[in-house]
Amino acid sequence: MELAELIGLRPVPAGGVLVTLTRRCPLRCAHCSTGSAPEVREEPPAEELERFVSSFSAADRPEVMMLTGGEPLLRPRLVAALARSARAAGTRTALLSGMFFARSGGLPEPVRRAVRTLDHFSASLDLHHEREVPRAAVFRAVREIRRLGVAVSFHLTGTGEDDPYLADVTADIERTFGGAVPSLVNEVRPFGRAASWARPARTAAARDEPGGGGALPCAMAAWPVVAFDGTVLACCNQDTVDRRPAPPHLRLGHVAEDDWASVRARTLRSPLLRLVRTVGPAHLRQRWAPGVPAGSYCGDCRALGDRSEVVAAAGALAAGAAGALLDLTAARQQHAQGPVALVRRHGCAAYADLVAAPGGGEQTPDQTPSPSPSPAAYPAPYQVTGGTRT
Ligand code: SF4
Ligand code: SF4
Repeated sequence: MELAELIGLRPVPAGGVLVTLTRRCPLRCAHCSTGSAPEVREEPPAEELERFVSSFSAADRPEVMMLTGGEPLLRPRLVAALARSARAAGTRTALLSGMFFARSGGLPEPVRRAVRTLDHFSASLDLHHEREVPRAAVFRAVREIRRLGVAVSFHLTGTGEDDPYLADVTADIERTFGGAVPSLVNEVRPFGRAASWARPARTAAARDEPGGGGALPCAMAAWPVVAFDGTVLACCNQDTVDRRPAPPHLRLGHVAEDDWASVRARTLRSPLLRLVRTVGPAHLRQRWAPGVPAGSYCGDCRALGDRSEVVAAAGALAAGAAGALLDLTAARQQHAQGPVALVRRHGCAAYADLVAAPGGGEQTPDQTPSPSPSPAAYPAPYQVTGGTRT
């Protein structure tokens, strides 16, 4: 599974699920806002995650499961178990790693076994990571993973399009991998790695007028996120992932007691989430609670459930078939615009094109082929007939 396809699915409601396997990490990157460190022990029990993923079925599943942390490869057997279970239902698995194991000069056997079960592997790289793991070691490990037949990509972070680090590292990747490995380039923001695959857009309006009332849809409210305590949230905003109690409209369940079908149903059917995905939280506040002062984009969103006038208006407007159609139309439009356009809005625009490089692994004879993308990428009632998802 290539990076472009993965990112292209990001606006599809319930098209994917983000699963944080542990907050623990062997590295101590200066910019880590998940508070990850070797001694941190916050992670959902393996059996709860396995139970949840085993509830995926051929007829009702996310198209992709993204494993992250902390460092997900600290639980290599769990990675392999979840990926195999997901694959049996037709869900493909991607993983984002901080590359701690690259310091040892090669892939340790448990890591190798876990990586072989994946459909996509992404390596984090930025100035802070390079102080922990040298770039050359990361490149060596990524080369080895490609040789296993797994599609790879880099996840780069810098301070913006003028950051000399980004110019240097992207040129180095181009030279080293001959343009065959894609990169997702993000700007450093107030949240950690788990959130950085897809964050709320920083459009000009959002920058100039924080919390302003324009229609700024949140594509990040599309994929459920399993947090470090097993709670399932509606998005990957780090504050939303970490704060308890979670706002009721952003809490989709818990892996100890809910299955994928119920999490997906809440994702798709919530009137507030439908409107957050289609017009965004600032517009909702301004339209139905005009006396409430503007906050931050996500702060406005977290407060929506406390505003009875907004909840009532959302129920009246978006609870029925019209709300589902509005949501589906917005998702289709964003999906149709493709991954480069999505990264232009949500990542570092100057490097958006890099998301589309072919990053496929070198196929080996024993590589189990990934199942074809399922037409269930828009699950019912979002199903698209006729073989196209756009
Ligand atoms: S930024 Fe990533 S690799 Fe670095 S300490 Fe945090 S979780 Fe680990
Ligand atoms: S808090 Fe709301 S606006 Fe922010 S990313 Fe989550 S769903 Fe989107």
